[in-house]
Order: sequence, then structure tokens, then C-alpha cells
Amino acid sequence: MIFGAAFDPSFITMTDRFGRSIDYLRISVTDRCNLRCKYCMPEDGVADIGHKNIIGFEAIERIVRVAVDLGFRKFRITGGEPLVRRGVVGLVERIASVSGVDTLAMTSNGILLSRMAAELAAAGLDRVNISLDTLQAERYRDITRGGELSDVLAGIRAAETAGLTPIRVNVVAVRGFNDDEVLDFARLTRLYPWDVRFIELMPIGDTAGFGSGYISVDELGAALQGYEPVSPNGVKAVARYYRYPGAPGRVGLISPLSSHFCGDCNKLRLTADGRLKTCLHSNREIDVKPALGSADDAALKALLSEAVLAKEERHLINDGEAPVRRGMNKIGG
Ligand code: SF4
Repeated sequence: MIFGAAFDPSFITMTDRFGRSIDYLRISVTDRCNLRCKYCMPEDGVADIGHKNIIGFEAIERIVRVAVDLGFRKFRITGGEPLVRRGVVGLVERIASVSGVDTLAMTSNGILLSRMAAELAAAGLDRVNISLDTLQAERYRDITRGGELSDVLAGIRAAETAGLTPIRVNVVAVRGFNDDEVLDFARLTRLYPWDVRFIELMPIGDTAGFGSGYISVDELGAALQGYEPVSPNGVKAVARYYRYPGAPGRVGLISPLSSHFCGDCNKLRLTADGRLKTCLHSNREIDVKPALGSADDAALKALLSEAVLAKEERHLINDGEAPVRRGMNKIGG
């Protein structure tokens, strides 16, 4: 018998219509950011969601509890830039305290990380992915419209010192911008136990036009002479990994366009304004705010289940589907 005093929630997993286990919830806690990356935001920024539409920490914690009851185990806090949301350390504490949360991670641009890494780790954060598209200070200032590379590097070191590991550095590959830095980035993995992952540029929101900079990661990866494939060992991952012989770190290639991994998709996304997204590239959204108004969790549980069962089989970008309307800063990657 499964149910009763000895009930063990780890038996529960949500399976979608395509037989995929959905156990990963990415939670965008703000659409605001302290950078203005050219492939994410137009020059003059975007109208933000507005404070009154942003769901509170109590609601997010409640959604996490209900999600755990439905078999979700991995959670990631994203943005915009999550570290600009006031009290985010308190949110980390709240989510980390929910029984059944196996992994709590974050994706950040690293700018504020050197100041906050220690308290994030103390609050229960497990690890952090840092978005970094160039190792050249001038280029960084250009692509982010004013960011300082030295802040990010200090953030990575602070995260490592705080034990927010393994460190993952995510690089959006852009032809004519950073495709000449492949070996510089890869060299980091020969010095540090980091995963440096190249991600194909995806057409999303207002900046879908930036797509002219698209380069496939296989074309990019051709430069990685001497790097050997790392066996996945049965671990499902969105990246294919390579390691230079004897190196502490790995290089990853993530190919959402040239060779998608939708067959292994395990995620839902929650936006900062309380909508469940079934797929990064789909305009389908389920508003959970009405369910948050009821004291009983049944409605919330039903909406999460509905979102899992409504998941698309795969994205249709290569089939000419129009880019998703919502901007990347309002989805959280
Ligand atoms: S594109 Fe959509 S279906 Fe494919 S992996 Fe991403 S979220 Fe999943």
C-alpha cells in the first residue's frame, strides 16, 4: 500500500502526454534586470510587469509546496535578474525549507553575486548558473549596455568560495560577436572545475530579430580540437559535454535549435506574474493567480496538473512557428 502513515511523496511523479516525467519548475521572480543585454532587451528596456502584478514570496512558497506534492523535485530561481528582487535571500530560505525539494538552483548574471553568494548559500541555495557571453571587458560593456566583466568574475569566485557548485557558465553563442572566443572560454575548463556551456541563440520576444547572429553549437564546437566527449552515464542533460584530457572542468554544447532535446523535457516555468508556461517557445500560459485566492490547494494542484498535461511535444521554431511573444526577461530562460 502506498498511501497511509508511511506515505512517501517520492513515489509521485507527474508524467505528461508524451511519457516524460515533469519534475523541474523554473521560477522567474522578476522581469527586472540590472543589465540591458542586446539579445534580450531592446535599447530602451521594456515596460515591466508592474509590482502589483508580481506574485509574492508566500504564494511562490505555496506553489512550490503543491508542486512537491505532485512530484516536482528540482527548482530554479530566475529573472530578469533574480538578485535585484528585494528579499530574494528570504525566498531562497523559504523554498529550501520545503520538504521534498531536492535541488534549488539559480541563474544569475553574476553582477551582485560577490555581495550575496555567502548569504544565498547559507539560506539553502545549492548552486548557481552564471550567464556570461564574453571574456573581453569592452565587449561585455557593449553587449550588456554598460555591465562590468570584473563584477561577474568576482561573483563567480564568491559563488565558488560559498560552495554554490558546480559552477556553470552559460554562454549564448552569437556569430560575429563571441564565436572567436570559443577557445578562451574552453580554456577556463582546463583551469577551473567549471562547466562552460555554449547555448544556441533562440528567437524570443522583441529581440527575435537578433537571430541573424545564430550559429549552431556544432559549428562552434568544431574549434574544440583535443576535447573528448564525456559519457552522460545515463544522466539526462540538455548539454553534450566534452573535457580536455586531465582538465578539471567540462565544455558543454546546448543545441535547442539544431538538435533539440524536447524528448527529454522535464520542465514547467512559472513567470513573475503568476503564469505557468508549458514550453519556453509556446504562448500557452495558465494563470494561477485566481487559485491563489482560495485557501484550499485543490485548484492550484489542478492548474499545475493541467499545465503538465498541456505540454507541447516539442518546440516548432524550425517549422516556422512565430517566436514566443513574451520576452526572455519575462520568462527566465
Ligand atoms: S523547447 Fe519546450 S518542449 Fe523543448 S525542451 Fe524547451 S521547454 Fe521543453
